Amino acid sequence: MSDNQTPIKASAMGVTLRGDRNQCSGCGLLFNSSRAFDKHRAGDHGKDRRCMTPDEMTAKGMVLGKDGFWRGSAMPASVLKGIADE
Ligand SMILES: [Zn+2]
Repeated sequence: MSDNQTPIKASAMGVTLRGDRNQCSGCGLLFNSSRAFDKHRAGDHGKDRRCMTPDEMTAKGMVLGKDGFWRGSAMPASVLKGIADE
């Protein structure tokens, strides 16, 4: 492994983690829900557990929102509008 940098904490990026939002402690990516985060982790516990790359996540149907948070899947426009109005 050549990438052993400590991920930048969400708080240091000026991002507030609210509700079910979370940050991967392994790679530092942001997730809109714990479900999306679970989807981001591939492999088996204790064996080859790892983070999926953005390309792999996109291939799985995951979506990176304009707010910088990954989602497990594309959401209906009505939900996205609610986020934009927040
Ligand atoms: Zn990760």
